[in-house]
Amino acid sequence: MIALVCHGGCHDLMPPEDEKALSQKKLDEYGEIGFKMLETGANALDVVENVISLMEDDPMFDAGTGSFRNLNGIVEMDAMLMDSKQRCGAVQCIQNVRHPIKVARAVMEKTPHCILSGTGAVQFARSQGFPEYDPAQNNAGNDYGEAGDRKRMLCDIQYYRDVARGSDHVFSTVGVVALDDSGTLVAATSTGGIRMKMPGRVGDSAIPGAGTYCTDSVGLSATGEGEGIMKICLTHEIALTYAMKGDLAEACKAGISKGSAIDCICGVIALSRTGEISYAFNGVFMPVFHRKSDRKTRKSR
Ligand code: ASP
Repeated sequence: MIALVCHGGCHDLMPPEDEKALSQKKLDEYGEIGFKMLETGANALDVVENVISLMEDDPMFDAGTGSFRNLNGIVEMDAMLMDSKQRCGAVQCIQNVRHPIKVARAVMEKTPHCILSGTGAVQFARSQGFPEYDPAQNNAGNDYGEAGDRKRMLCDIQYYRDVARGSDHVFSTVGVVALDDSGTLVAATSTGGIRMKMPGRVGDSAIPGAGTYCTDSVGLSATGEGEGIMKICLTHEIALTYAMKGDLAEACKAGISKGSAIDCICGVIALSRTGEISYAFNGVFMPVFHRKSDRKTRKSR
């Protein structure tokens, strides 16, 4: 059995029809590339890294190039991957790299740690040969006010809270879960975080059990309001419910209801070791690609 599921973020406001169609089209395109890799015997880790990297290069999504800027106008990104052998690598608040997911993989494979953040993550990336790259090519994150206004937000916290609370939400983080021929699951998420975030803010995406999680029976990636998702440990919660009750669709639904109960806009994709695919969200739109096959791949023939 091979399977792949991808999301392109859970939206709180309905995007215009053409934008909706385009994000679905792109997700399908990248998903197909990943699925073909699985069909030709690629392992889940390479597939997930490749599909996320493609999305990180696409300014349509809030990850890599296209990430929202923070209040200082700087892009700070979070990315994580985890596999069914519970190997895990993540970067938080990393700047000036093109593919945060590749650095996250290097954290997993080359260091004894799970998470590197901020300047340490950048230093590690350079030591591994990831060149300097400016991902700040999407001004959408700064379309909410003038520089003076942003300056006020940084020093007047009540003002910041009022503006942030009243603003539109756009969540277009990316996530992928893959199952390869050997039965290995890998889950990954990459994001530029939320609009108008304060410098140094870390979201849920690169926190194990919050935005990304994988056990030997299920892999999950979440999207939405990180501040809520991390409080309910959304992906861990769903994995636990699935382990106890065995119904993936119900487990996803129950997890998202927990988000709704604390006013958290969120969405999740899930893929089980048996090839079951499920997703749920409480926003208005979440592009999803999924495909599976139990035909023999080139490797297993
Ligand atoms: N969950 C991400 C964060 O809070 C945002 C998103 O899903 O778009 O950083």
